[in-house]
Order: sequence, then C-alpha cells, then structure tokens
Amino acid sequence: MTLVKCPDCGKEISDQAPACPNCGRPAVPRPVVAAPPPATETTGKAGRTLAAILILSVVVGGAFLMVIIKTAGKGGSSTGASSSSSYHRSPRIGEERTLRTGASSPSVPVFETKDALNEVAAAGTDQSLAAVIMGGGAFVVDQGTRVLIVETGGDTTKVRVLEGLMVGRAGFVPSKWCRE
Ligand SMILES: [Zn+2]
Repeated sequence: MTLVKCPDCGKEISDQAPACPNCGRPAVPRPVVAAPPPATETTGKAGRTLAAILILSVVVGGAFLMVIIKTAGKGGSSTGASSSSSYHRSPRIGEERTLRTGASSPSVPVFETKDALNEVAAAGTDQSLAAVIMGGGAFVVDQGTRVLIVETGGDTTKVRVLEGLMVGRAGFVPSKWCRE
C-alpha cells in the first residue's frame, strides 16, 4: 500500500482507503494507474507511421548532410583547402568502387539523373532531397555499398549498384563518393 495525499485536506492516507479518514472525501479510483485503455490500436498504427517518418527523416537528413559537404567541397576545390585531405583518384569506367559520402550517415543517396543531383545540391535543403527521393528521382543505399563505375564526367559519376537491396540499379553520385 502507498500513501497518497488527500486532495481536499492534504493529509496522507492509504491509496486503498475508500475515503479520507480525516475529511471523508471519497477516494478516486486509483488515479495513478489511469492508463488510456482504448486507442491502443490507432496509437500503435500512428506510432509506427511516426517511427517510419522519423527513420526516413534521419536517413534523408543524414544523406543531405553529405550533399552539403559535397557542395562545400566543390566551392573550396579551387584552393584545395578542404578537399586535399579527402582527395582521391578519379573513378574510371569499369572500376569497382565503394560508395561513401565520408560522414556518419548510414545511407547514401543515388540520383536517377544528373539534374536531380544538381537540383538537390543547388536547393540545399532537407526537403529538396526528401522530395526528390519521394518522387523517385533518387534512391538510397548503405554506406560502403560496392558499385561499378559506368560513366564519368568530372564532378559527377554514374554507378551501378553491385550489392544490397538496390542491386542492379544505376544512378548518379558526386565523383568523390566513389572511394577506392
Ligand atoms: Zn481528507
């Protein structure tokens, strides 16, 4: 048994007492255990949807960070200030590389077209990447996914995914994401 304060007189009484022995106030049936009994079904559903949205936004947000880094790296590449340490040999057609954005995000976005890649890089918002992914303009693979270099063009490289859920799909990524 637990002691609770009577809401009327403030005296400590047993939570099992039917009424306050001091002022006679009838006990409220177990206010502590007041769990919302119905709505569990809908809450579960909504909870799962919310979790899915949360996971997606984390994935997308993390992926977007990479785009920011890529865009920033592009700007500073003329001086070579920030890009010198992360510089690597440009990918060549037919090579196998590993897709890594260089950040802690678990995923890497692969764009269906160069335009989609440039659009997201130019817009510079989480929403732009999310919109492109939702619209089918990009898909997501795990960091470290093996890819085949299909086409190279300066900053942008076309790759074919060699493993994972998206195996066989091709798309465009910043060339610097194609690590040896
Ligand atoms: Zn009382």
